[in-house]
Amino acid sequence: MRKILLESLLKGPLAEPSPGAEDPELLAFAAQVASAARAKLGRSLSIREIDAGSCNGCELEINALGNAFYDLERFGLRFVASPRHADILLVTGPVTKNMGEALLRTYQATPAPKWVVAAGACALDGGLFAGSYACLGGVAAAIPVDLYIPGCPPTPTALLEGLLALMG
Ligand code: SF4
Repeated sequence: MRKILLESLLKGPLAEPSPGAEDPELLAFAAQVASAARAKLGRSLSIREIDAGSCNGCELEINALGNAFYDLERFGLRFVASPRHADILLVTGPVTKNMGEALLRTYQATPAPKWVVAAGACALDGGLFAGSYACLGGVAAAIPVDLYIPGCPPTPTALLEGLLALMG
């Protein structure tokens, strides 16, 4: 017990080091996406995220875009709760048979102009789950796709690069 107490006094807390200064490359990407969206749409960009059957690894990275470190909302990029308010459907995972119709209805409920971004290896072609009895395949098996963002999972920077390519 004494050894543990001594170690905790000498070593400090077991936690990850705090993030350093903001990544200038990331800030530049986010600012470019925001200004490209304003040029194209005349306003900020609204994104509806849809998990069509993912393992949630992709969601962890997408959620990171909204955390205190990346904080995308300061650039006017917003995640919205309804497809009726969305410009982009950001879809992850393979499309499971149970989610196929829901994904199609969400696509139909999104007003034009709209874009579909398939994020992650599973969204491309089913990835790890390709060939499963429970999956239809990649996102394109259910709705038209405008852009693929590779990775398993794609990093927040890769997601921003993809959005920038789409807006450009
Ligand atoms: S691409 Fe990787 S992280 Fe994303 S849903 Fe598929 S297995 Fe999970």
